[in-house]
Amino acid sequence: MSQSYDYIIIGAGAAGLSLAYGLSQHPQLSKKRVLLIDKAHKIRNDRTWCFWTTEAPPFHEVIYRRWQQLAFHSMHGSRQFSIAPFFYYMIRGIDFYRYCFEHLAPSIDFCVGEVSEATPAGEVTLHDGKQFRAQWVFDSRYLLPQKPAELPYPFLLQHFKGYVLHAPHDIFDPHTATLMDFRIPQGGESRFMYILPFSPKEALVEFTIFGKKLLPSSTYDHELKAYIEQHYGVLESLEIKEKEFGVIPMAAQGFRRPEGALIPIGTAAGCAKGSSGYAFIFIQKHCRQIVEALAHNQRPPAYRPAWRFRHYDRIFLNVLYHERMAGAELFSKLFLKLPPQKILRFLIEESSLFDELSVIYNLRSVAFVQAALHEVLS
Ligand SMILES: Cc1cc2nc3c(=O)[nH]c(=O)nc-3n(C[C@H](O)[C@H](O)[C@H](O)COP(=O)(O)OP(=O)(O)OC[C@H]3O[C@@H](n4cnc5c(N)ncnc54)[C@H](O)[C@@H]3O)c2cc1C
Repeated sequence: MSQSYDYIIIGAGAAGLSLAYGLSQHPQLSKKRVLLIDKAHKIRNDRTWCFWTTEAPPFHEVIYRRWQQLAFHSMHGSRQFSIAPFFYYMIRGIDFYRYCFEHLAPSIDFCVGEVSEATPAGEVTLHDGKQFRAQWVFDSRYLLPQKPAELPYPFLLQHFKGYVLHAPHDIFDPHTATLMDFRIPQGGESRFMYILPFSPKEALVEFTIFGKKLLPSSTYDHELKAYIEQHYGVLESLEIKEKEFGVIPMAAQGFRRPEGALIPIGTAAGCAKGSSGYAFIFIQKHCRQIVEALAHNQRPPAYRPAWRFRHYDRIFLNVLYHERMAGAELFSKLFLKLPPQKILRFLIEESSLFDELSVIYNLRSVAFVQAALHEVLS
């Protein structure tokens, strides 16, 4: 016999916990019987999430750091800029997991188990044979495609390794986060360093690649060491307090759609933006839409960015995937020329048509025309 719930949420990661928290906070939904399932206890600081907004940030209680000054570097130039009225916020995974679990409504059960199957009829089966059913099942399980090169559309991997470094003396500027530093060997891909300074002595330094394949593990360490030693001193003189590794899909299509009672959420639903990999803010938007729909007894919506943003992402990915323009040149055309607020609005899909026209004007090139034609014809 399967146990029944109003809703089942598969995965207690960014999307699953954001949704469970949203349900817990809603006066009409906080008494719903919910089962939250994850294959693991969420007790590791396995990632950091950054996002930007001009509004009160989601989960403001657990914001770890925020910056209003960003830097961009490439072989084409360098620029440091204020992003006011935006802030660039950072949340540590472990703080988010703890906070959400502490604030879940009593009617939400948490179960540690690995889901083997979830059906459009709302039935969920675990590997150990336990079965559950619900009116709606929200599923955040996601597997990267086995053979991305064989997909009929551009699919890139954003992969990265980072060290949280602690230095014996002041070496970081805590007021300025480096969004992208392309001044490293590109290896025929788009490679950059990303630096989040937490204090004058501590920072996350991350080697990031937009590419078709993962690298051998030693290459990430080699590139990090080379960059750190060029900018901050001998690696052995610094303490590596934590390491972070991640892979995010960069695609503008091919994600799961809702089927019957089964609603994909998070990365599985396509919330990681194709052209940037940022997902946290889009996950929040989707979870808010789901909570609103449930409160009005409506069908929970699929994650669906506006048509024009899907097309911008497709063209952008086409350019990078087919190597029509190097990532360093592409991002330089944006960050070295345009007001940063315009780019930030564009990247979180809150831009005006005027913003978008200036982005398009700055990127005008044979590469983008070819990519746009390719996308229209494919
Ligand atoms: C290291 C890292 C850093 C990132 N940084 C940023 C950032 O700065 N800004 C940003 O916007 N985005 C970032 N992202 C992208 C994105 O925001 C995250 O991947 C985010 O965690 C996606 O949320 P999710 O809920 O879809 O997946 P997850 O957070 O990965 O949650 C999925 C959950 O499902 C569970 N699960 C999987 N399979 C099963 C199963 N069969 N049964 C039960 N449970 C299962 C997993 O254990 C996991 O807890 C980052 C991603 C990574 C990997």
